[in-house]
Amino acid sequence: MKPARTRLAPSPTGYMHIGTLHTALFDYFLARQTGGQFIIRIEDTDQARLVEGALENLLKTLKSLGIEHDEGPILQADGSVAEQGDRGPYVQSKRLDIYKKYVDQLVEQGDAYHCFCSKERLDVMREQQRATKQTPKYDRHCLSLSKDEINKRLEAGEPHVIRMKIPEGITEFEDAVRGSVKFNNSDVDDQVILKSDGFPTYHLAVVVDDALMNITHIFRGEEWLSSTPKQILLFKMLGLEAPTFAHLPLLLNPDKTKLSKRQGDVAVEDYLKKGYLPEALLNFIGTLGFNPTGDREIYSLQELIEMFNLGKVKKSGAVMNLEKLDWMNNHYIMQLEIDELIERARPFVSINLDDAMINRALIIQRARINHLDQLQQSLEAYVTEFAYNPELLVWKKSDKQDAKIQLENLKQFVLQLEDALFVNVESVEREVRAYITSNNLDNGSVLWPLRVALSGQEKSSSPFELLWVFGKEKGIEKIETAIGMLG
Ligand code: GLU
Repeated sequence: MKPARTRLAPSPTGYMHIGTLHTALFDYFLARQTGGQFIIRIEDTDQARLVEGALENLLKTLKSLGIEHDEGPILQADGSVAEQGDRGPYVQSKRLDIYKKYVDQLVEQGDAYHCFCSKERLDVMREQQRATKQTPKYDRHCLSLSKDEINKRLEAGEPHVIRMKIPEGITEFEDAVRGSVKFNNSDVDDQVILKSDGFPTYHLAVVVDDALMNITHIFRGEEWLSSTPKQILLFKMLGLEAPTFAHLPLLLNPDKTKLSKRQGDVAVEDYLKKGYLPEALLNFIGTLGFNPTGDREIYSLQELIEMFNLGKVKKSGAVMNLEKLDWMNNHYIMQLEIDELIERARPFVSINLDDAMINRALIIQRARINHLDQLQQSLEAYVTEFAYNPELLVWKKSDKQDAKIQLENLKQFVLQLEDALFVNVESVEREVRAYITSNNLDNGSVLWPLRVALSGQEKSSSPFELLWVFGKEKGIEKIETAIGMLG
């Protein structure tokens, strides 16, 4: 396949929506697979919706996920955004002169026209259309204005917009995900392409930029599908070649409604803040609506790049199954080298992670967390002194006296264990079990008081894990405390 040029064209909203990352990843997969480019263009023509720092934030989020773009604005070490010479910045508000030329061309060709209608008039028009159940559409009130009249009103400085004139007929295109898509032009509104503030609208700017930037594939969410006929018509009117369109499946909540804040986080930053690993997020989001082989769930970024196949992208909405994300994140947490896990865990934990005992606790506890912000709580149990009711030390089939005897014997047993036996949990477990069998003891009467002495809790991790984490000295200390409590 020829090198693809794809683009992520977000409007600056202040956070990165999961759907934006979904599109970005598909852009990235295809660009990297074909040796092409993945560019970022900021679509900020709606000046009323600008958010301070949005661009910096978007670039920062992509960077923390390890997704690099080729052209467009770049994030500098000090957090500010810089230009890349002639390879950016692709920020639409800086390209107004370019769009103006194309608007003029469309007016000259008769494919666009001036509209002086006031907001009040348009409101009344829409209200009437609604009341009579018609599709809300501009009624072409200004289409019949004469050249003289237009010039007079322009000279008088009357506020106006430019609208495209949708021709009669059918607009059809081949969507790489959906196949052939057809629109009846009579359902398409005479879209405003230049606003009264002199800014182009999204529809015009996106077409001009996709053409000038030689974009080969437009990936975007299904919600943009109804915009496509207008854009295809603009490409035609301007004599420009339209790229391939691929409308990606909508992302859905588990109840199949459109992904919304109410049912969970929609900002990528929120997931990073909770300690979802970039590799898990890339795997999870990158396989929403697309599974390369259909026989497994775990894919590395490299595999997704190599196996990306537009033909395998599903049309139907993709459900964001957060339980699957949790499972995947745990999978990646388990895969990390322990030193790497420590580094990744640092921002989430206020306990000293450079401590051998905490390292052992981390090895045990990582199996039980889904995201790194759960680590603090699960490690706290190892560093805080716990208080418990001595009755808890007594196994249900035993009594206080027996619990005390068992703990005293256990203390002697642990005391004589060689340090080398503390090499891992399995080795500790083997020793304790051998001790139970060789002394003809009952599992419950030994393991229950041992576990409570080491955890202070009715439910906790296994006594072997606890003993291994605390080590010989600390383990004996806790057993002694328990013995003391039994009077
Ligand atoms: N600017 C649009 C957005 O905010 C992009 C739509 C497109 O990719 O054409 O998502």
